[in-house]
Amino acid sequence: MGKLRVYEIARRLNTKSSVVIKKLNDMNIEAKSNFSGIEEEVAEKFIEEWNKSRKEMIKQIKEKHKEKQPVKKEEKTKEKPKEKNIKDSQQKKHKGRFRKEEFIESVTPQKLKGRKKYKKAEKGAKEEEQDSNIINFKEGMTVFEFANTMDVDFSDILSKLFQLGIMARKNDIINLDAAKILAEEYGFEINEESLKKSEGVIEELMDIEDSEEELVERPPIVTVMGHVDHGKTSILDVIKKTNVASKEAGGITQHTAAYSVKIKDRYITFLDTPGHEAFTKMRARGAQITDIVVLVVAADDGVMPQTVEAINHAKAAEVPVVVAVNKIDKPNANPDKVKQELANYNIVPEDWGGENIFVNVSAKKKIGIDELLESILLQAEVMELKANPNKRAKAVVVEAKLDKNRGAVATVVVKEGTLNQGDAFIVGAHFGKVRALMDDRGKKIKKVGPSFAAEIIGLHGVPEAGDTLIAVRNEQAAKDIAQSRQEELKKAMLNKKGLSLENIFEKIEEGEIKELPIILKTDVFGSIEAISSAVAKIATDEVSVKIIHSAVGAITKTDIDLAQASNAIIVGFNVRPTQEAFKMSKDLHVDIRTYKVIYDIIEDVKKSLSGLLSPEEKEEILGRVEIRDTFKVPKIGVVAGCYVTYGKITRNAMIRILREGVIIYEGKIASLKRFKDDVSEVQQGYECGVGVEGFNDIKPGDSIEAYTITKIEREL
Ligand code: GDP
Ligand code: MG
Repeated sequence: MGKLRVYEIARRLNTKSSVVIKKLNDMNIEAKSNFSGIEEEVAEKFIEEWNKSRKEMIKQIKEKHKEKQPVKKEEKTKEKPKEKNIKDSQQKKHKGRFRKEEFIESVTPQKLKGRKKYKKAEKGAKEEEQDSNIINFKEGMTVFEFANTMDVDFSDILSKLFQLGIMARKNDIINLDAAKILAEEYGFEINEESLKKSEGVIEELMDIEDSEEELVERPPIVTVMGHVDHGKTSILDVIKKTNVASKEAGGITQHTAAYSVKIKDRYITFLDTPGHEAFTKMRARGAQITDIVVLVVAADDGVMPQTVEAINHAKAAEVPVVVAVNKIDKPNANPDKVKQELANYNIVPEDWGGENIFVNVSAKKKIGIDELLESILLQAEVMELKANPNKRAKAVVVEAKLDKNRGAVATVVVKEGTLNQGDAFIVGAHFGKVRALMDDRGKKIKKVGPSFAAEIIGLHGVPEAGDTLIAVRNEQAAKDIAQSRQEELKKAMLNKKGLSLENIFEKIEEGEIKELPIILKTDVFGSIEAISSAVAKIATDEVSVKIIHSAVGAITKTDIDLAQASNAIIVGFNVRPTQEAFKMSKDLHVDIRTYKVIYDIIEDVKKSLSGLLSPEEKEEILGRVEIRDTFKVPKIGVVAGCYVTYGKITRNAMIRILREGVIIYEGKIASLKRFKDDVSEVQQGYECGVGVEGFNDIKPGDSIEAYTITKIEREL
């Protein structure tokens, strides 16, 4: 007779091991960890019981749900045909599929009101309720926070929500309806006062799906990306000058972070921060506004490293790519070669059976620019970009600054709805009221609609690029939300943690991830191929592995940005992070793993997917040292004149020598000196002399990374 592991039972029940352990223990069955084995017979019985009680529970919840909604939406329309029109439109407005991040979908103003009435009627009967059973409900509360207020496991809440037909994840915002049902289920009641405070606000923060009739075509929002010097700025300049300045009064003279150009009777909005850094940063903040990426490739230079990066960023964001093959005026221009090279990255022109529009242009000779703009519109047409202009605005900050005269100023691009002068809003953890709106030409305007940019003043703080602005009914509500967000932000900063090989299993179990995204950096091109194909083969039933970006060279800041935006981990093979990237990875909790043996990568990824990765050894970086000069010392060899740029270096540390971020040697220190004296350590900001055991090929510009290995107890 076999045994079932606790985690296997948990998986079958769609819950967490800890919940299973607790329930088993309640039944006097011994289970200590994920890996405890339970006799198969006992386990099957347990699962059966569990499922039975779940079914019972679902029945109860559903019945309660029915009772509490005396008139169901559909029935309402049937019973009162006279009200059809209003009801119909309301219903349409709120119907639609559950989008995972928006299961607040089912909270409608109507429902809220209905609930309130019900609550009041019931109140008389329940007059004297114990205070300890009353919990506070806050607007924008996540499933996790809500579970905490009741002191129950959030995975329990998730499975109950699931049974109510609501697909939710730990950090999704819980809707009031569901919260009420669940609170009752656990014997709690939601505080009336806290409800009143939340109600209006929730209504306004809701992401209600628009009906077809309400949707209107909107301009595409475009980001231009590509390798340095391939002509991004030049192309944007030509577009700006020929399509804005000369044709319309005013013209864009000063820098604007976003602007729209008119082509016949249609518009295109350009984000004027070329390059993928801004693009990725925005995405990291959950604000993807780019609809189309224009990839600029110089016809005389072809596909270069940043071209590949841009492609991978666009792909990770699932944004279509229109290719502008630039500099075709050059004698050595070879647009066909560009096509061939791009095909290797799955960017294939339509006439080759692919999906990408290619346009040959020259920013210098102003060739093909109109065609490029038309192609963008063509691409947009296929995408059927639409938005509802007739509701409170939702916009994204593309740039914000503190202006000496005007205070905080933000450039926003409206995603949906219309932003009016006088609107109160929240933006990130700040609030404000639109005192003035300026269009992309600096002209005062009264309102701005979907896909258009505007500069706004009237903010009580400087937001960050990528923050979402939401217009709300009144400034007080905005202030309340901003305040609670600031508190949340503080909390979040304290325990924020990205995806890592160590916690991935937990996240898989919690249903948070279905795919492990990896960014791969290696010392030579050949390794990319080998590692990618080996890693791609690793997959379990629950999760697959996907390399979202790979390149040769050191791990850089852009890699960290992309990792954060895509919740990916970074795997380095014979390369190390730059110092900047290293620091950033610590701040942003991005997991960087570096290896020397391909087999180890495969093993670690495999183990992490099944929750078996428990590192026995952990590397701790002590510091970084920059080599500024080298000296030949007779009998000893080469000694490096160094400067400690970060942390410290110690005499008995392990070291690796890096050239352009690539490990060229690993070993030990032979000598560590301050001036003439041998020392045991040198701190950041000091100079020192370092001799490396058995290695003389040090060069100025190399750096030394000092580290130690600590043993870590296995935890089970
Ligand atoms: P970015 O780094 O991608 O923004 O590239 P820039 O727009 O700054 O252009 C880099 C260089 O290429 C500049 O010297 C431009 O004058 C030049 N350049 C840009 N477009 C063209 C073009 O179509 N033809 C030629 N011959 N040169 C160009
Ligand atoms: Mg430029």
